[in-house]
Amino acid sequence: MVNRDSQFFWDGTAAGELRIQRCNSCGALRFPPGPACQSCDAYDQGHVVAAGTGTVFSFVVHRHPPVPGKELPIVIALIDLDEGVRMVGELVGVDAEEIAIGTRLRVDFHRVDDDLTLPVWRRADEEGQA
Ligand SMILES: [Zn+2]
Repeated sequence: MVNRDSQFFWDGTAAGELRIQRCNSCGALRFPPGPACQSCDAYDQGHVVAAGTGTVFSFVVHRHPPVPGKELPIVIALIDLDEGVRMVGELVGVDAEEIAIGTRLRVDFHRVDDDLTLPVWRRADEEGQA
């Protein structure tokens, strides 16, 4: 999960930022991060901080089998970030029934321990922010 190519991402979540790899050569955004740009093959990779908003592209509701340390069901979504990249994320504070393709989401951060903070997603309108 954490390696040289994704270290910036986890440093970001620890700092409350959702970071997306951006090629310093051509500006292409990429998720998940990798060593070389998929557009121009450059190895000079930087990152941008995402706005932290996106839309549900698809989702699954995990009802079984049990997952250690997790309360079921878990809603896992493919999320289209407003920046144009797609990532997988867990939705929290939602009922599976209220999630649909196109539901607006806002990122939040779940601190697991000193070394790991996971991005999680909430409904964008849950906090009164449309
Ligand atoms: Zn590039």
